[in-house]
Amino acid sequence: MADTTSSRHPNGLYLMFAIEMWERFSYYGMRAILVLYLTKALFFDKALASNLYGGYVGLVYMTPLIGGFIADRYWGNRRSILVGGLVMALGQFVLFCSALLRPETAAEGITPIAGFMLFLGLGLMIVGNGFFKPNIAAMVGTLYGPNDRRRDSAYTIFYMGINLGSFLGNLITSLVGDTGNPDDFKWAFLACSIAMILATLTLWWGQNKYLLSWENQPVGITPKDSPGVSKIYIWLPVLLLLSLGIMYIDAFVTNIIFPFLVLSAVVIAYLVFADKSLSRIDREKIAVIFIVSFFVIFFWATFEQAPASLTFFADEQTDREVWGYTVPPSLFQNLNGFFIVTCAPLMAFVWGFLGKRNAEPSSLYKMAIGLFLLTLGYVVIELPVKNLVPGIKVSMFYLVALYFLHSIGELCLSPIGLSLVNKLSPAKYVSLMMAVWYLAPAIANKAAGMISALYPEPEKGIVTSFLGIPIHNLYEFFLINVGISGVASLVLFLIAGRLSKLMHGIK
Ligand code: GLN
Repeated sequence: MADTTSSRHPNGLYLMFAIEMWERFSYYGMRAILVLYLTKALFFDKALASNLYGGYVGLVYMTPLIGGFIADRYWGNRRSILVGGLVMALGQFVLFCSALLRPETAAEGITPIAGFMLFLGLGLMIVGNGFFKPNIAAMVGTLYGPNDRRRDSAYTIFYMGINLGSFLGNLITSLVGDTGNPDDFKWAFLACSIAMILATLTLWWGQNKYLLSWENQPVGITPKDSPGVSKIYIWLPVLLLLSLGIMYIDAFVTNIIFPFLVLSAVVIAYLVFADKSLSRIDREKIAVIFIVSFFVIFFWATFEQAPASLTFFADEQTDREVWGYTVPPSLFQNLNGFFIVTCAPLMAFVWGFLGKRNAEPSSLYKMAIGLFLLTLGYVVIELPVKNLVPGIKVSMFYLVALYFLHSIGELCLSPIGLSLVNKLSPAKYVSLMMAVWYLAPAIANKAAGMISALYPEPEKGIVTSFLGIPIHNLYEFFLINVGISGVASLVLFLIAGRLSKLMHGIK
């Protein structure tokens, strides 16, 4: 039997680390250049590119609900990750093909076949991620015993894998794809496809050797009472067609993803609270998960401006020259992964230092601090844009400072949220509550796209409006983000004390 008293982690964790690193390489690498690809290589306008980005990422975080369910009932985690990984590799390859067929000029317009390839590629990514993401996160937990104290640090190590992958992916795709020549975007998609193949090969190679529980039993295999593994394959094309249809309607006809995601959250809440077998204490803890997830929406909606409006800002309004080298605009997003990996030990030290003095804030206060840091990041970017004239560029220091504050904010909120959800969920709802936690970024990312679509372009006479208030310039645009994250932070600070009573001793 494995030694659970030492602080050494099982090899399976490092296998998961490597697989997730390659997958996040692919996911974040592609996302970093997506809006630039849409606007510069396919000549979409910013609003359409932002909406398509938001719809895509919204659905990416929605399908884990389905992928988690299919794994629990039919396939098990390993098969789901393998299938999801291959579908994602194919998706990136189809995007590579769409880039091969791109129009030379805006006047030429995107051909129907290239447009179809773009949607098909994104659809495959959505479906594949639904199987990959929830199952890899779940696999980490299965390597440990019920009261194993290494679990929290295992998730922290895993989170580093996520960010190392995001850092490397972003770096490579920016360098090979975002070169200033729109023909080069294709190399980014190809690199991401190769990364996904590496992710699946790594799992295939190591699964039998390393995916063992604390009792040395294989984990993540097909559930014993599965009604048949093959049955559900038919749902893959159905899910793909659904994603394509929803994404298309959302981008070109009317905004349906946002209400659809909100409705899903309401239906899940209804189903869970209708369960009569839950005690009052369980209900109160679940209520906290829903309330916290609600606040997390405001975090990700403003945080995820990174690959959208903040990339437009990096591209057009930031002085990107360093010692004769022009930094590609997409590379700024890379600062997030960099700061997460380098600052995580610092944060652990700060919490440990405060903990020893009995002054460590509870999870809810940490989350409110995370939201506050996000606000602060946007306050920093407001400084130079106050009276900014189009064409004048600001120092890249401001974006670096914004990403630093946002990354520290993420460290206060994201890994902590994962373990909080775990601790608050009654055993039978752990997976569902995890899916609720991922529904928050789903809703938020769609909202992020909607916010980014408000990006004003005064030089082109493009004035947008938010809740009826016109947005004439970048100062007013970033003020929306200051307001959303600032108000959410303030309210969470105010109600954290009351909410903690509903958590019944869990911090
Ligand atoms: N950056 C983390 C990841 O990719 C968290 C994302 C999220 O929950 N929105 O897994």
